[in-house]
Amino acid sequence: MDSITAWFAEDRGKRAVEALKKRGFKAFYAENQAQAKEMALKEIPPGAVVGVGGSVTIRGLKVIEELRAKGHKVLDHWEIPHSNVEESFQLRRAQQTTDVFLTSSNAITLEGQLVNIDGSGNRVNAMTFGPRKAIVVAGVNKIVPDLESAIRRIKEIAVPMNCKRLHHSPPCMAAGKCVDCRIPQRVCRITSIIEWKPPFFADYLVIIVGENLGF
Ligand code: SF4
Repeated sequence: MDSITAWFAEDRGKRAVEALKKRGFKAFYAENQAQAKEMALKEIPPGAVVGVGGSVTIRGLKVIEELRAKGHKVLDHWEIPHSNVEESFQLRRAQQTTDVFLTSSNAITLEGQLVNIDGSGNRVNAMTFGPRKAIVVAGVNKIVPDLESAIRRIKEIAVPMNCKRLHHSPPCMAAGKCVDCRIPQRVCRITSIIEWKPPFFADYLVIIVGENLGF
């Protein structure tokens, strides 16, 4: 990353961190993935059961392997084949009551809001109530000015890239934009805006990383 790009990433990242703090979140800026991983691991108590949301960013940190090596039980539904619907449902259900829920966010506004759209709801559910602690790791590419641009980012960037990854083909893939589809293949089903740290979480940590991570 050149020096101007690094400056911009740090400036946006730190602005988001300050905005998140004003809304009750514990927020930090990490220069890179390695630093973010170290910060996240430090926040996970020994023996904690960890749930992992559907997130390319979290898998990119290689944190799941490290947690298991340390003896943590990690609930990762991406390890269950899509065909095994019941097992996937039970694991996603169990994620809701873990000690720590580790995930990213589809978008984070410069006002300090976390914005997400789910197809199943397990991730947005665990981000709002259930686990004792949440750790959200997000690259600066997820930062947007406001709620409107957050929804636009999700539907115009996160959805097509995730659909490509998952070999899904809702109409936005062909149209190149959201057409507010009304079909069973719709992946945008549940929208969540977290405007303030949800009260039952002992801690809600958001780590903004000065790199482009995930979608
Ligand atoms: S077309 Fe459907 S699946 Fe695609 S972004 Fe719009 S609502 Fe989501």
